[in-house]
Amino acid sequence: MTFLTLGDIHGSVKWTSELIAAAETVDTILLCGDLTSFGTPGDVAAIIDDIARYNASCFAIAGNCDSLAIESFLTDQGISLNGRGRMIGDSIGICGVSGSNRTPFGTPLEYTEEELSASLDAGWQQIQGASTRIVVHHAPPYRTKCDRTLLGMHTGVRMFREFCEKDQPELVVCGHIHEARGTDMIGETLVVNGGMAARGHGTVIEISDGDLTVSLM
Ligand SMILES: [Zn+2]
Repeated sequence: MTFLTLGDIHGSVKWTSELIAAAETVDTILLCGDLTSFGTPGDVAAIIDDIARYNASCFAIAGNCDSLAIESFLTDQGISLNGRGRMIGDSIGICGVSGSNRTPFGTPLEYTEEELSASLDAGWQQIQGASTRIVVHHAPPYRTKCDRTLLGMHTGVRMFREFCEKDQPELVVCGHIHEARGTDMIGETLVVNGGMAARGHGTVIEISDGDLTVSLM
């Protein structure tokens, strides 16, 4: 099973030839939040149409720069992962959390750590049968290479780090901190911030016989 993750699209994917080749060949595309910059459901519809030129299968969460209307739109389209878990075959489970923890910028979709935790738990419960468990969470877990701002401050979600330490999902896919593109480990959990699809970045995930391979583009 293969996935392409596109995070922080912010209005449009920068389609490099590498990204197009990946989009055309993976089984499913995962959109990791901030599809827009304070946009509308109509903007999201256009982005999904654009992506569907290469691959029609996608799941998504919203980011803090999206809105509740966008979240509802993703739910109506049947592709939202927020507070939900989905089984892909019998061995892969994916759950998600939209929005982010509080920021200094007062963006539309910000939550308390308790609210984020409730969404995470709801989806997580639904993928307990999976041997490979993927959490798609717009905001990164706290104190990793994936939540470090240009000024060196860690701005991730504390409860999410504690969750990773305790429950050890096989893979966490996040975004939100644009400059913190990269990977890190929390115990056995691989954490990936794939960077901005708006700048041509994405991540290919390959799962074969329980082995996980991740390539950043
Ligand atoms: Zn963003």
